[in-house]
Amino acid sequence: MHFTNTPAWYVSLHGGHTAEFCDHGEGRLRGLLEAAAAKGFLTYGVTEHAARVEERFLYPNERDMGWTIEKVQDDFARYAETVFALADELAGRLTVLRGMEAEVVPADRYAELMLAFRQRYSFDYMVGSVHYVGEMPIDNTARQFEEAIEIFGGLERLGIRYYHTLAEMAAALKPEVIGHFDVIRKLGRSYGDVATRAVRNAAAEALEAVRQHDCILDLNTAGYRKGLDTPYPDAWVLELARDMNIPFALGDDSHAPDQVGAGFHEGRDYLLAHGINTVTVLQRDGNAISRIRVPLTE
Ligand SMILES: [Zn+2]
Ligand SMILES: [Zn+2]
Repeated sequence: MHFTNTPAWYVSLHGGHTAEFCDHGEGRLRGLLEAAAAKGFLTYGVTEHAARVEERFLYPNERDMGWTIEKVQDDFARYAETVFALADELAGRLTVLRGMEAEVVPADRYAELMLAFRQRYSFDYMVGSVHYVGEMPIDNTARQFEEAIEIFGGLERLGIRYYHTLAEMAAALKPEVIGHFDVIRKLGRSYGDVATRAVRNAAAEALEAVRQHDCILDLNTAGYRKGLDTPYPDAWVLELARDMNIPFALGDDSHAPDQVGAGFHEGRDYLLAHGINTVTVLQRDGNAISRIRVPLTE
């Protein structure tokens, strides 16, 4: 099957997590990439979660399964090997972008660690995401989120710290893509308003860092899957980013083969409805990565 009518904007820069390498994914990477090819993708970015390097960052369910930090690191090494092998095998049908999703822990040395992973495994690009604030998980369990609210002295303060962390991460890693810019909204919305004026000011500063370091924002359609009424980011972020000329790209943040490309047409409509008429995608030719701006209107 070959799709000659795949529009240039139809590229995902964030996703491809599977049970093969991550505790909360489903399926295997080969099956997920087959699904991407079957859905008409010509270029698809895979960005498995970077390994955590200290026992204290294991997720509660990983602990329940008896996982160790060595296993997490071995899985990540196996991921790197597998994504390169599958990319070679599928070349001609599907261009696989071989990436990683960086973490911001441990807080005092994540930058060196993530940049070292990137270099060691020769990844094509990196998605920089904030899943922790001050080393407290804010994207995992409600219980941990409540602890984070307590530690930071309320939801608003946690929200502000979240965006400060994001701004620091953008500067420290200069990732090609910023993952789910306002993911704090996912758990935060159950506890109140995570878009107060003070939080929005912090988010605007974070966008300034994103712009300065030339990062692309992930229009992350997993928002739909998580029960939000929009993808990440929310409309007010979209409009700020648009006015600052910060580029977007679509990302499905898939954690299972059947999530590949989910919500992309709605995501495109959402961008267009807010006056964003282009996306900036990555392309790969051999080991050379280029960045191109393409219309959403075709
Ligand atoms: Zn994940
Ligand atoms: Zn993420």
